[in-house]
Amino acid sequence: MPIRLYNTLTKSKGAFTPLDAKNVRMYVCGPTVYDFAHIGNARPAIVFDVLFRLLRREYGDGHVTYVRNITDVDDKINARAAERGISIRDLTEETAKIYFEDVAALGCLEPSITPRATEHIAQMIALIEQLIAAGHAYEAEGHVLFDVSSKADYGKLANRSLKEMVAGARVEVAPYKKGPMDFVLWKPSDVSTPGWASPWGRGRPGWHIECSAMAGQYLGETFDIHGGGIDLMFPHHENEIAQSEGAHHNHPLAQVWMHNGFLQVEGEKMAKSAGNFFTIRELLADWPGEVLRFNMLRTHYRQPIDFTFAGLRESWKMLERWYAVTEPLVDPAPDSGFFEALADDLNTPAAIVSLHQARDMALAGGLGFLGFSNVQLKIATKVAAVDEAEIARAIEARKAARAAKNFAESDRIRDELLAKGIVLKDGPGGTTWEVKR
Ligand code: AMP
Ligand code: ZN
Repeated sequence: MPIRLYNTLTKSKGAFTPLDAKNVRMYVCGPTVYDFAHIGNARPAIVFDVLFRLLRREYGDGHVTYVRNITDVDDKINARAAERGISIRDLTEETAKIYFEDVAALGCLEPSITPRATEHIAQMIALIEQLIAAGHAYEAEGHVLFDVSSKADYGKLANRSLKEMVAGARVEVAPYKKGPMDFVLWKPSDVSTPGWASPWGRGRPGWHIECSAMAGQYLGETFDIHGGGIDLMFPHHENEIAQSEGAHHNHPLAQVWMHNGFLQVEGEKMAKSAGNFFTIRELLADWPGEVLRFNMLRTHYRQPIDFTFAGLRESWKMLERWYAVTEPLVDPAPDSGFFEALADDLNTPAAIVSLHQARDMALAGGLGFLGFSNVQLKIATKVAAVDEAEIARAIEARKAARAAKNFAESDRIRDELLAKGIVLKDGPGGTTWEVKR
């Protein structure tokens, strides 16, 4: 089935034709690992997971290479590690592990390759050397900068001229820069900052060069799809293009550039200071991963999402209703307009509408394809059927039984709740409960 994708580079939707149908290649910018990922970060993970699944269906499981990197060298990481008094390696290992667990709970397949920036410093240095040799970069005071005036089409992704960019951007003014939009490829590290030996002294890479180096390493000079959130389009992706194309005789970095829209919370930007900031981890404590995933897919990936708890409750109810009529989600291909909708620039809301109209096997197949398995939700659904007051009464009854040293009764109450998917936790502040996963 022909797949059509919207391309930020051409500002239009067109037929997707891979460069090599035997190896369809996609790169997605992954997380910078210094803290728990938030629910907005879950969006590209889920969106590009659905695309990965669609490409695998079209070209075969073994014929799609999906690379999503881990940015494990960054000034935010340095600052957080110093604050916590732990090594950068410990911080990034810990955070990356949490990220992998979170996105797995959201039903995302593992990408084919998950490269870490710190393991590709040599490739970054080589790329920077190529850029210097090609006249696209210059060294200044231990820094290496990309000279944007050397690349005539700089701004083609963001669709802005250099003049507009200078006017619109809050660019860092530094005496060693030739042009205000020139960006850092390499910068010096002092003794207390992580650094690697390089032809320009001990230092560390800029963020943008990391992706160019890792994409080049695993996907070659030109590949099919590059993805990430819309916030990365400029300057990150624009700079990736400038670097990779500058080093590779202007061969295009990616054919198709895809950007997911932003997630907002109750109409506002998610921010710690606004008190509307939710990590994936804390949401998973109350909501099945499937509900979070389904809630995300109800909006088309290019639209902004307004994340609300009312929306989550609605998503949970919809899944519950479907799971009541479907059996284990095996994979008979539904013939209901479902795949046509997905192939039309990943139109998940339309695909979901088609499932509403479908029955049984088609519904089961569609949900299975989207990464849902009803096992997790069946457990959670049981819990939804138990009312909280009833749990509180059971906890009180168990407390009374324990006080009367009637442990057979207190165990019976605990086991009865467990059978309903409720786990009791005894702590210094009393007994609390949570949903078994
Ligand atoms: P970061 O770790 O900040 O580089 O972000 C990882 C990924 O999450 C990138 O693809 C970002 O574009 C994306 N992202 C960050 N915040 C949001 C948000 N609120 N909504 C949607 N995507 C986001
Ligand atoms: Zn990137």
